[in-house]
Amino acid sequence: MSNTVSQIADWLCEADQVVAFTGAGISTESGIPDFRSPNGVWATNRQIDFQEFLSSADGRYEYWRQKSLAHRAFHDAQPNIGHRVLVRWEQQGKLRGVITQNIDGLHQLAGNSVVHELHGTARDIACLSCSYRTPADPLVEQFLKTDLVPDCPECGRLLKHATVSFGQSLPEEAFEASVDLARTSDLFFVLGSSLVVYPAAGIPQVAKQSGARLVIINRDETPLDGIADAVIRSSIGETLAAIDRAMSAT
Ligand code: NAD
Repeated sequence: MSNTVSQIADWLCEADQVVAFTGAGISTESGIPDFRSPNGVWATNRQIDFQEFLSSADGRYEYWRQKSLAHRAFHDAQPNIGHRVLVRWEQQGKLRGVITQNIDGLHQLAGNSVVHELHGTARDIACLSCSYRTPADPLVEQFLKTDLVPDCPECGRLLKHATVSFGQSLPEEAFEASVDLARTSDLFFVLGSSLVVYPAAGIPQVAKQSGARLVIINRDETPLDGIADAVIRSSIGETLAAIDRAMSAT
């Protein structure tokens, strides 16, 4: 692994349009479970897609139950070394932006200023019918206390976390900005994503096809390992810290 780390550090020294594409794996070291690992969210929870949320009161209750419990897990979570290395690279003028599938807000909390959230944020709750939007904490606490799904205080319709459920479209602006970043990137990191959820997982392919070097750091194999210039199957925090040390030493 150390040869690969120094190779990536050399690429990082040469690059000035670095982009990081992150998934749930970058936040497991902050104590937030990912989806598909053996102890991930789907080992214990049934997936509520958007159609079920819209059409079934039971589905909405189950959605609010799962989201409210998950909210507590990341309410106290703090950015880890992986998040912090990305902030350092931005401060050094290397990193142009972070494209994230995560909904935990930890990149912003760490201090990255350009973060495109492809799947929205669980830190807010929004009405599906009007423009009402509010921080999640009070409504989550209210649900956990009353066991009742809240309605929009402005129009009485459905309230949902400001995240993208399966079956719901991606926010257009974040998606287009992410594709633009990928097209102009010269070094593109995938950090902690199984790369199976589309259209997000197509973005690293855009970067590679546009001429960027593609680096994948993920504990498990991904479908894009074959087109990557380097693959490291290890901890994201430890690996990014090692790359950062190697870059500082050159
Ligand atoms: P995923 O669960 O499908 O894949 C995560 C990958 O990260 C796995 O392949 C796993 O091997 C790897 N991984 C986990 N911890 C790691 C570590 N410490 N070091 C290296 N690799 C590690 O997650 P995904 O690809 O992001 O799936 C997409 C969906 O998951 C998104 O829709 C996202 O909104 C949602 N999600 C987000 C969060 C969050 O915001 N933190 C948490 C769970 C799920």
